[in-house]
This record gives sequence, C-alpha cells and structure tokens, in this order.
Amino acid sequence: MLVDTFQRHHDYLRISITDNCNLRCLYCMPDDHYNFTAPDKLMQVNEITEIAKIFVKNGVKKIRITGGEPLIRKDVDKILLNLADLPVKLTMTTNGIRLNDYIDLMKQTKLLSLNISLDTLCADKYKLIAKRDYFDRVMQNIKLFVDNNFHIKVNMVVMKNVNDDEILDFIELTKDRPIHVRFIEFMPFDRNDWQHDKVFTLDQILNVINESYEFTSLSREPHDTVKKFKIKDHFGTFAVISTMTSPFCSDCNRMRLTADGKMKNCLFSKTETDLLSAFRMGLDIESLIYKNVLSKEKELGGQFEVGNVDDSSIVNRSMISIGG
Ligand code: SAM
Ligand code: SF4
Repeated sequence: MLVDTFQRHHDYLRISITDNCNLRCLYCMPDDHYNFTAPDKLMQVNEITEIAKIFVKNGVKKIRITGGEPLIRKDVDKILLNLADLPVKLTMTTNGIRLNDYIDLMKQTKLLSLNISLDTLCADKYKLIAKRDYFDRVMQNIKLFVDNNFHIKVNMVVMKNVNDDEILDFIELTKDRPIHVRFIEFMPFDRNDWQHDKVFTLDQILNVINESYEFTSLSREPHDTVKKFKIKDHFGTFAVISTMTSPFCSDCNRMRLTADGKMKNCLFSKTETDLLSAFRMGLDIESLIYKNVLSKEKELGGQFEVGNVDDSSIVNRSMISIGG
C-alpha cells in the first residue's frame, strides 16, 4: 500500500494518455506556442498497461484516463481494453466531442461513469472558451450517454465575468435528468493567465444558487475532492471542487502519471519522477513509486496556501500536459 508521511493511503491513479487535444480551452492550454510531446516519448500501450499493473499490485483500485483529450489517441481502444482486465474501477475525463464513436467500447470495458467537461451552455461562448466549434456535438453526446444510463458528471470551470452568469442554467440541467454538475474553482497552472480575481469561489457559487433554490448537503465519501449538494425533486446533483478556497488535501488518495510517463504525487507537485525512462531501461520502478509518494507535501504541492497564491512563483506544467 502506498502510504505517505501523513498516513494518506494512495489507491487512485490518474493516467494521462496524451497531451494533445481537439480543443484549446483558455484556462488549460497556453495561448503561445505549445509543443506537443512526440509520439515516441509518450507511454505506449504496453507501457501504460505494465506500469498500471505495478500500481495495482501496490493497492491502486481506481484508474481515471485523462489527457489532453484521451479520445483523440488512436489506440485508446487498446489502452481501455487492457486496463479493463485489471481489478480496478475504470473512469475517464473527456471533453465529450468523440464520445459517440466509443459508446460500445465504453460498455464493453465497463467504463460507465464519465466526467464530461463543458463550461458554457451558449454555443457562441463555447467558441470563445474552447476556441473550437463543437458545442452541439458535446450536448448531443451528453444526452446520448445519459439516455444510455451512463453516470455522467459535467465539469464546469467557473470564471468570473466569463461564465459565472450561467451557474443557474447548469443547475437546470440537473432538474429532469440524472446529470451531476461539478463547478470547479479556476486553478493556476503554467501560462494559463490565472488571476486571483477571476476565481469564482465555493461561497460565491453557493450564494448564487441559494438565491433561487433550497438545497441540502450530501454526505462526503472518503477522499472526495468535492462538496456535494442536492436540490429537492431534481434528478441530478451538483457539487463544487473548491481547490482554491477549501481544498481536501488531508485525505487525498491521488497520484498522477503524465502522458510522457512522469509520476506526480499532486496536481501542484513541483517535482516529478520519470517512471517511463526507468521502465524502458528495465529498472525497478516500484521503489521509485514509493519514493515519490513519500515525498508528497502536506498541501497543494507545498506551492501555495489558501488565500495566499503567488502564481508567478508556482513551478508546474500547464494543465493540458499534467492531465486533469
Ligand atoms: N480533455 C479532457 C477534458 O477537458 O475533460 C480531459 C483533460 S482536462 C485537463 C481535465 C479537467 O481539468 C477538465 O474538466 C478541465 O475543465 C479541468 N481544468 C483544466 N484546466 C483547469 C484550470 N485551470 N482550473 C480548473 N480546472 C481545470
Ligand atoms: Fe483540451 Fe480538456 Fe484542456 Fe480543454 S480542458 S484544452 S478539452 S485538455
């Protein structure tokens, strides 16, 4: 079992399988020139499988596939089929654009719970945020997957004066369908133009909803990074991921593997462990994994504190190359 110096047990691995994407979300992908990782530097299908097996041997019970956009990788089917053979709960975070091509594969691999990212319900604003025109396709795919009884969470990054005026529209999505909306506080990463006053906080989100709805808190599962709520008579729920104002680092169980095979013990960790190079050299990566977990900082990668964020001093990758 992968336990760190704060007695946190790590049984959840998020694997990025590409740092490329068919969108260019303004909060995720740097605006200036971005170099995608060369194909030979990415973890190959067998490398993802074998490295994942080592994590599973050491207690990992849940694997989330992410990116970049995982569904643009041509061999994503092989990756999912291999991982589906492991004794883990398999999930994915996707922008939803290509989901319709993979519905049978998702059923076959029992990948029945998905996070789909969507930051606006206005087609024009979608083009401004994501810089591409796929709004209708994503909406159709959300409907398709909900109708096929997948458990669907819709991730919305809330940014002040960009989409904070749409919170109640997203709440409406939870009314007649079992859609679970997750409002995410805007987080700072390399070159994503983060500013303190662009963050729309947990309290502000709840205040907006409170003006129109009565809601109750749902109980927190261990390791949850969200605060969950339910509005009476709504089929779905809503939640807030409040990393910037109220993080849940104290029982964090997550580890990450970037598409180029570097292990990160926190979204904000400054340091990384190059598992892929070690694996390619035939070295023992189990000890590297343990060492990485033991170096995990208490909170927020040790890079900032709630209410005291100097984004210029944070050393990290851009979100697209970490894998959210
Ligand atoms: N392409 C897929 C997608 O968009 O769902 C998976 C990768 S994306 C990096 C994973 C999640 O990270 C998305 O829900 C996205 O909205 C979120 N994300 C990206 N940058 C973020 C930021 N600066 N602050 C908060 N969430 C962010
Ligand atoms: Fe691509 Fe997802 Fe990042 Fe948007 S949030 S640019 S869809 S990786």
